[in-house]
Amino acid sequence: MKNPTRKRDALVEQLAVYSDFVRGSITSVCSTCNRARCICTSKSPGKAYRLTYKDVQQKTHTVYVRRDQLPRVRKMIANYARVRKLIEKLVQANIDVFKAEASR
Ligand SMILES: [Zn+2]
Repeated sequence: MKNPTRKRDALVEQLAVYSDFVRGSITSVCSTCNRARCICTSKSPGKAYRLTYKDVQQKTHTVYVRRDQLPRVRKMIANYARVRKLIEKLVQANIDVFKAEASR
């Protein structure tokens, strides 16, 4: 096996690349009636966007997201998935470091 410490450090560097992350999902509501299922169908209302996420107590929060912020927030959500995968890899990498130390 290659140098496990170096492998671990490379993963930590990747973690920094995706540090702009957030957990949650984007939902849209009617910008007029503020409902997911619009009740003011006669007009042609625009959509408003929100980020919905749960905190550590599993309480749901909603944050307003401006339309021009959507691409960024979508990227942040994608980054969270990457960070989660990286954490799993880091768990294994750190075990490899530990094993290498123990066999020395
Ligand atoms: Zn509406």
